[in-house]
Amino acid sequence: MEYNIDLKNFTTFGVSANAKKFATFSTEEEARNLTKNNNEALLILGGGSNVLLTQDFNGLVLKNEIKGISIIEKNNVTVVLKVGAGEEWHNFVLHTIENGYFGIENMSLIPGSVGASPMQNIGAYGVEIKDVFEKLEALEIETGEIHTFTKEACAFGYRESVFKHALKGKFIITHVYFHLSLVEKISTKYGAIEQELLKNGISNPTSKDVSNAVIAIRSSKLPNPKDLGNAGSFFKNPVVPIKLYNKIRETFSNVPSYPIDENSVKVPAGWLIESAGWKGKKIGACGVHVNQALVLVNYGGATGNDILNLSTEIIENVYQKFGIVLEREVNIL
Ligand SMILES: Cc1cc2nc3c(=O)[nH]c(=O)nc-3n(C[C@H](O)[C@H](O)[C@H](O)COP(=O)(O)OP(=O)(O)OC[C@H]3O[C@@H](n4cnc5c(N)ncnc54)[C@H](O)[C@@H]3O)c2cc1C
Repeated sequence: MEYNIDLKNFTTFGVSANAKKFATFSTEEEARNLTKNNNEALLILGGGSNVLLTQDFNGLVLKNEIKGISIIEKNNVTVVLKVGAGEEWHNFVLHTIENGYFGIENMSLIPGSVGASPMQNIGAYGVEIKDVFEKLEALEIETGEIHTFTKEACAFGYRESVFKHALKGKFIITHVYFHLSLVEKISTKYGAIEQELLKNGISNPTSKDVSNAVIAIRSSKLPNPKDLGNAGSFFKNPVVPIKLYNKIRETFSNVPSYPIDENSVKVPAGWLIESAGWKGKKIGACGVHVNQALVLVNYGGATGNDILNLSTEIIENVYQKFGIVLEREVNIL
């Protein structure tokens, strides 16, 4: 156990915040022992790529380092893998590609840990973890018991799961099981993957080619947290009633949308923020990224509250302009 640790290097926003107590665990048993007699606030951290610390954490911060990738089942068409929650997501993706398992190559280069991936049902380029999710194991903090959660029990939605709502703060995810395909299954239709492959003269891509294309596109669009503090998309893309969408279109004929159902559409939050004039705006030490309006950045020395206040201004301004309330994707602490 360590005391009074600055969490600056433990989240990708790189903001300072003091943790009263800090420890890591690499087994379920260690996690159980650390939480058994704890009566203070508890924060579980993976890679810290989806949290914004706005104040000191007056309790115990536990960093998950449970490692290991093992085969649980394999037949001619599918493999089921059990993965330690502390494995780095991108390393896991690379492992699957090297071993000829298909299904998550489109989610290359998403920062963070495997254990946090079900928290918000991470996704990119047309794939979400719910598509390859088998089950997970999690330690119930109150009892120290391990529970298994099926896909249904996780109640996955767009950047959502039961762990962000009814079970928030109650479980530590220790292992995640994925079912992947042994039969070649490549999806290049989403975003700019196909163009990127063609640019490189690839017409019959392998999963490694798709992964490389995703890495190239992401690296060109998104700031690397090692260079510029950020947590990826700060806001979710809002689902908007069709009536409101049509009203917005009367003034902004180019507003993009993706169909959800007959009554609603999804509108890209990045477009709303950019159209409200925020792209590239810098306020003090933080701002809206110059290339991607969905990403708020810490230019160095911003506090969590600076970034939170900026996000509030954006939410209010977008509401005034379009009548749409943006919701934060990042976990605010
Ligand atoms: C540059 C960049 C790009 C990104 N792109 C994407 C993207 O394309 N798609 C996408 O979906 N996300 C994206 N993200 C967001 C982020 O990568 C994911 O949300 C990721 O899953 C967070 O993992 P983490 O280990 O860093 O979680 P953390 O930030 O450490 O934690 C996130 C939340 O989960 C909780 N938590 C973490 N681990 C556990 C556990 N084992 N048990 C219980 N609770 C836990 C934490 O308490 C916290 O509430 C991006 C982030 C960045 C910085």
